[in-house]
Amino acid sequence: MLDYIIVGFGLSGLAFVEQLEKNNKSYVVFEDSSQKSSRVAGGLYNPVILKRFTPAWQAIEQVETAGAFYKNIEKKLNQPLVFELPILRRFNSVEEQNVWFEACDKPILERFLSAELYENTNNALDIPYQYGKVKHTGRIAIKKLLELYLGVIDQKKSLFKESFDYAALSTTPNYVEYKGVKARHVIFTEGFGVQKNPFFKDLPIVGNKGEYIIIESKALKVTEAIKSSVFIIPLGNDIYKVGATYNNHDKSVEVTERAKEELIEKLERFLKVPYQIIDQVAGIRPTVKDRKPILGTHPKFANLHILNGMGSRGILIAPSMAQNLFAYIEKDVPLNKEIDVKRFMT
Ligand SMILES: Cc1cc2nc3c(=O)[nH]c(=O)nc-3n(C[C@H](O)[C@H](O)[C@H](O)COP(=O)(O)OP(=O)(O)OC[C@H]3O[C@@H](n4cnc5c(N)ncnc54)[C@H](O)[C@@H]3O)c2cc1C
Repeated sequence: MLDYIIVGFGLSGLAFVEQLEKNNKSYVVFEDSSQKSSRVAGGLYNPVILKRFTPAWQAIEQVETAGAFYKNIEKKLNQPLVFELPILRRFNSVEEQNVWFEACDKPILERFLSAELYENTNNALDIPYQYGKVKHTGRIAIKKLLELYLGVIDQKKSLFKESFDYAALSTTPNYVEYKGVKARHVIFTEGFGVQKNPFFKDLPIVGNKGEYIIIESKALKVTEAIKSSVFIIPLGNDIYKVGATYNNHDKSVEVTERAKEELIEKLERFLKVPYQIIDQVAGIRPTVKDRKPILGTHPKFANLHILNGMGSRGILIAPSMAQNLFAYIEKDVPLNKEIDVKRFMT
């Protein structure tokens, strides 16, 4: 009898598997590459909402957990995966600069927002009102991390590169059975793919499509992440990720011409040097109506659990949510009401 079956290996699946590894639990993972959110993500960790300079939900607490989480995986996989990367927020007006200064005075943000304004010295960019700098932020090479980690799971013969067939799952009070495999629990971490899961498909995980263009520009020479109408995220070797879009209507996983045009228009508002588009990527963020993650146990089936709804901030949120879910299942530590699946299912 295994301890766990994990369905889906994006950021949520990874975060839960790390809990299992830490606690010596046995598991298998099913991953079918049907969703791309984690693999196309910018990989930025940043606790500040850059529209109004406010802290994101629980983000200040999550920074600590996430920081240790990724550093530990980096060490285990013995590859550079965590990159410190300050974010420069381009101001659009003097009024915005003033809002920034007010935010700098708030004790909760003091550590992250630099009270100094930064003059632009790069001719490639049009920055008329200076920058504000967010500190202690960075980028996780998440696609590489997930592939390396999956390789390790595969080597242990614990990976099934196939779709989980929900119809083949049977449950009893003490264990589940799936195609001859018995396990104490199933954790569903399918991101927006949850819409095909008969046990949890009615949850209000609405999905928000995001696209990036990947550009090459020899003349840009930027080493920080620049946030203006879009993000420019340096990946090294004169390659940058530019985006992302937010689309609530299109739920397809394919890239679109419309998103490309939107990103070009926004980029050229402040980028003044030549560049070439070398790629484009798309994914669906698993967003929830009330903008909080969803975790917990199915009200009718005590061994079926969900870890989902990471929205647009999975890098920071997933590690602490996985910790909460593990403690809930294994040690009966109650879940906070605002993240518990019970708020939508009884
Ligand atoms: C364009 C874009 C940019 C983003 N940038 C950032 C960023 O910079 N920072 C940040 O914190 N967040 C970012 N996000 C959000 C972040 O990517 C998400 O919060 C996170 O990826 C959600 O992870 P997840 O594991 O819950 O879902 P997913 O990444 O969707 O993973 C679910 C996995 O389950 C698999 N699956 C689904 N159904 C089945 C099945 N039946 N059988 C087997 N496998 C299945 C899928 O193939 C997939 O691999 C971005 C998202 C997008 C789209």
